[in-house]
Amino acid sequence: MSASYDPQNIFAKILRGEAPCVRVAEDEVSLAFMDIMPRTEGHTLVIPKTPARNLLDIPADDLARFMPSVQKIARAVKAGMAAEGLVVQQFNELGGGQVVFHLHFHILPRWPGVAIKPPGGPVVPPDRLEPYAARIRAALAAG
Ligand code: AMP
Repeated sequence: MSASYDPQNIFAKILRGEAPCVRVAEDEVSLAFMDIMPRTEGHTLVIPKTPARNLLDIPADDLARFMPSVQKIARAVKAGMAAEGLVVQQFNELGGGQVVFHLHFHILPRWPGVAIKPPGGPVVPPDRLEPYAARIRAALAAG
């Protein structure tokens, strides 16, 4: 039997405003913010407001309502970060490399010759993430 959703996970706290984040965008179904241990410049996370552990337990209807937000943020990350392309990653359960158990999609901008760093740090302070968030927000505003 699979584990149940833990409402004390860090992304649930961010959604409730109990923990800080460098916010990129929010709508009725999603929140996007900068990854605190970015693996590329502009590494952004998109999470649903639905309390789901990962792709395996989110109700299909909620997933369908949420995925357009992932696409919208991905387009804005590519434009705002002047990336040549993107990697979108999403890990499921410990065995799949998942660390935070609230569904999230990683949006990783890519440029030629620039490698994706391994996960696990270092933690980047908010003032150094904010300029990237600003670029992505500007791209969202530009449509
Ligand atoms: P994973 O569950 O393997 O997809 O990894 C969780 C991701 O969440 C990692 O990339 C972490 O750097 C990121 N992360 C963990 N805590 C925070 C936080 N408080 N704010 C932003 N990103 C976080």
